Amino acid sequence: MPAVSLPSAIAGAIARHALAERPNEACGVIVGSAPAADGGTARRYVACRNAAASPSRYLVHPDDLLAVLADLDRAGGELWGVVHSHPLTPAVPSAADIAEATWPSAVHVLVSPADAGGPPVIRAWRIAGGQAFELALTVEAAGDAPGANAGGACRDTPDGGAGAEARARLRGAP
Ligand SMILES: [Zn+2]
Repeated sequence: MPAVSLPSAIAGAIARHALAERPNEACGVIVGSAPAADGGTARRYVACRNAAASPSRYLVHPDDLLAVLADLDRAGGELWGVVHSHPLTPAVPSAADIAEATWPSAVHVLVSPADAGGPPVIRAWRIAGGQAFELALTVEAAGDAPGANAGGACRDTPDGGAGAEARARLRGAP
């Protein structure tokens, strides 16, 4: 399984944004040195508005997206990843997420702030060709104080249960 890593500051920002936007989905983008598919490094998280304002859908607000892209033109950098939260369901791409995914070279980062009432769970996916493939996600502690990445919840759960079942379904989806 290909691997990606997120600085703990970014993972923490994503988790906090997901918690703040409940009950709706939160969304944003991760700016990096290059697209994740090209080996780029994630540098910062840009929280965006969810134009769908829904607990089960997201649409990165077009104005926010334009602002991010304009900033990339000015300051450099690339769209590394696209982030959204699943307030009520696990951090696994939905059928709509897969059908509507754009930017195939970006990592799709999903965060579920409510898994079993514990800390937010962040998982990374590549979505291409109508399928979702999970990426091994590492949260890098970048010299922060211990616990600073508590919201990052570097996912390290056994690859069984509902998650594996959901992934199997995703792979089997037409
Ligand atoms: Zn989703």
